Amino acid sequence: MPSPELPDASAQLRARLAELSDLGGIAGLMGWDQQTMMPPGGAGPRGAAMETLERIAHERATAPELGALLDTVDGGDPLVRMARRDHDRARRVPVELAAEIARVGADAIGVWIQAREESDFAAFRPALERNLELRRRYAECFPEVDHPYDALLDRFEPDMTTAQVREVFARLRAGLVPLTEAIAAAPAPPLLQGPFDVGEQRELALEIVRAFGFDDAEWRLDRAVHPFACAISPTDIRVTGRFDEGSLSGVFAVMHEVGHGLYEHGVDPELARTTLGSGASLGMHESQSRLWENLVGRSEPFWRHWLPRARERFPAALGGVSLEDFLRAVNVVRPTLIRVEADEATYSLHVILRFELEVALMEGTLSVAELPEAWNAKMKELLGIDVPDDARGVLQDIHWAHGELGYFPTYALGNIVAAQLWRAARTDLPALDDQLAAGDHAPLREWLREHVHRHGRLLTPSELLHRATGAELDPQPLLDHLDAKYRALYRLGA
Ligand code: ZN
Repeated sequence: MPSPELPDASAQLRARLAELSDLGGIAGLMGWDQQTMMPPGGAGPRGAAMETLERIAHERATAPELGALLDTVDGGDPLVRMARRDHDRARRVPVELAAEIARVGADAIGVWIQAREESDFAAFRPALERNLELRRRYAECFPEVDHPYDALLDRFEPDMTTAQVREVFARLRAGLVPLTEAIAAAPAPPLLQGPFDVGEQRELALEIVRAFGFDDAEWRLDRAVHPFACAISPTDIRVTGRFDEGSLSGVFAVMHEVGHGLYEHGVDPELARTTLGSGASLGMHESQSRLWENLVGRSEPFWRHWLPRARERFPAALGGVSLEDFLRAVNVVRPTLIRVEADEATYSLHVILRFELEVALMEGTLSVAELPEAWNAKMKELLGIDVPDDARGVLQDIHWAHGELGYFPTYALGNIVAAQLWRAARTDLPALDDQLAAGDHAPLREWLREHVHRHGRLLTPSELLHRATGAELDPQPLLDHLDAKYRALYRLGA
């Protein structure tokens, strides 16, 4: 019997990359289940199973056989280029270091939870010092970068540099601080008075996001304490949310997560099960969620269509609320202590604070011991408020417990990119306001699919941005948007 013909290198490579993509989908499914369905007793075994899966995925991603295949196929193919990049980066980090980072990060979570509960930074300090030390060693695996923080940033925002973020954030900060000060000085609009039945909120959120493109055949909405979105595959998108009776914030959170889902759902099917079949970066991803949540979901045309529908669901709470009062209430801007509760205007200031501290920690100009004091000083400087305790200050986020330095900037980059894309979309879609006011979200979704979603990781974030908007990363459209919006809403002087 003749031996079966060996598949060529290109087919073998694709099979290996498809396997890596499948392992990513399985990890996503396990993570989704952990946060939505798993009974508490599953926690221990699930942690062990996820570690096993992670180790297998790492072994496959760094396998010498994969490197050999990459050496033999056409390096000009974008798929090969990206696969090569991922493979090289994964191999640069010694297995023992990667394992230690994962283990120390996982152990630190428990320490952090306890420290935050007791508002005791000293209890968390050794764990954070260990995490920082490991991240320094990680950065040393990439000696070619200009700044050690570049190596951390690159994991989430490929090709972005610390210098670039510093420059863009400095401009954003210079515009945001006076704007938020002016808004804070104006009388606060009255908040909406609930209660908003959580079942009705869920139905309203579903009605809205179905108009965005959520389709029951390929999407799910489930409950999770911390809302998130994940794509098991482009035709299996899991979105989670949480509603509470006191406000409509859960509805906005679902719009946010569906924005993430639409990105993954809109990637060219040809790229599925390859290295290129997901979003270009976390910042680009966040631009999609922020665009739907804020630029669409907090706009006047949008609520011209949806407020009458919301009133039908909440006649007691919204029956007497005018469109203008509703908009002022859902767009309230106030400096607050907690990032995840921050509004559209102050949010980026929370991120800038964390970025500046992380860079100083990596540079060694700030020690972990000095961190709480530095945090509190920056809160005063950027948001004008005093931090009463570390639980509501330096201990509030989970990221540093995980050792995830370099992640925070992507949140503000998302706000910046969202405003740039929004400006470009409005130019291309002159009837956009009328379409939104008619409840027609398809033209915007299709514009985003064409200019952002379908490309997956084929283009770098900066290439994507440049093609879609003709511009480099630029905070000005965001500042212009916020300035125009809040001057009108708060009737501020010019
Ligand atoms: Zn998000």
